[in-house]
Amino acid sequence: MDKVIDHFVSMAVISSPSYKEAQVSAYIQAQLAKYGIEFYQDNAHLEYQDEGAQCGNLIALLPGTLSGTVALSAHMDTVTPCENITIVEEGDWIKTDGKSVLGGDDKAGIAVILDALIALASGSVPHPTVVAIFTIGEEVGLKGAKVLDFARLPSIDLAYVIDAGGEIGTAYISAPYSAKGVVTITGQAGHASEPEMGCNAMVAGAQLITQLPIGRVDEETTSNIGIIHGGNATNIIMESVDITFEVRSRLQEKVQAFIDNVSQQLATLQSSMPISYENRIAQGTPGFRLDPSSELLSTFASCCTQQGLEVQFNDGMGGSDANIFNKNGIPCLDISVGMKHIHSVNECIKKSDIITCRDLIMALLSRPLRPQ
Ligand SMILES: [Zn+2]
Repeated sequence: MDKVIDHFVSMAVISSPSYKEAQVSAYIQAQLAKYGIEFYQDNAHLEYQDEGAQCGNLIALLPGTLSGTVALSAHMDTVTPCENITIVEEGDWIKTDGKSVLGGDDKAGIAVILDALIALASGSVPHPTVVAIFTIGEEVGLKGAKVLDFARLPSIDLAYVIDAGGEIGTAYISAPYSAKGVVTITGQAGHASEPEMGCNAMVAGAQLITQLPIGRVDEETTSNIGIIHGGNATNIIMESVDITFEVRSRLQEKVQAFIDNVSQQLATLQSSMPISYENRIAQGTPGFRLDPSSELLSTFASCCTQQGLEVQFNDGMGGSDANIFNKNGIPCLDISVGMKHIHSVNECIKKSDIITCRDLIMALLSRPLRPQ
């Protein structure tokens, strides 16, 4: 069996929910040490002590023989359920017994990076300097990447996060800006039999909602109300209600416009009802859009063609560690390793896709970067 599949299966059986990545990290470290690849763990876990983080991000460094530095990244945590993972192989497919996720998201990405590093470290193929970054807590909000100490890393020219699905050759060239948070509206509690004495927070909340565009805002903007909490008893006028919003858009201004609209509508409501309010909707990780004429996209496209793969550049609708690299000025694509039905117990992946992705990464690392 191809070594990359061995690495994948060895890591897939390890349970590693967010902040509990130590065992996966130990596996990677053992492999790096075996092949004499330099690595260190950062102190990301110290930032997440309250969450019980076990270990920091793991960073491996392979000095190059060609110009430039390329970063490869994948995350070590998985979503749940991820206890007692039983791997089932059916021909080319790898899946589980249906009782847990497979964790191909993102251990398939880790396996590809690890196998490529080992091949470069033990071979004689010229390559740029490679920085491999294995992050913690990606699934709970890009937590490891957010506290990555970029100053401690060598200067990185471009990066590939291997954390997407689709045919191999698929890459995400953008991610939306987003915001989320709770709006609390407080009215006045009272007995339900004396409505004149109270002010129902939910009535104010309902009026707020009808004044806002919820769902499809425009072609590049969506909004949602995901959670509503309020009330204590049927005979008490609801004193306060928490309404949780999210909004995402290709344009940061449109995200801000939604947040401002919520505040304006709340102020208008306050002029006609005895309420107070707090708007805690806040912008999250910045989105990005890569330049179509950039070296990153042209290199990826030509390598795919060279490998006989069809290149497909897509716009993403969610976040990944690629947001953080781009935010820090490092052009970064999120590329597919072929993961399917992620975040479900039906998750599966083809061995041939993992191998093809590894070969694509090797091709990407076999060329010098144009001097910046
Ligand atoms: Zn992922």
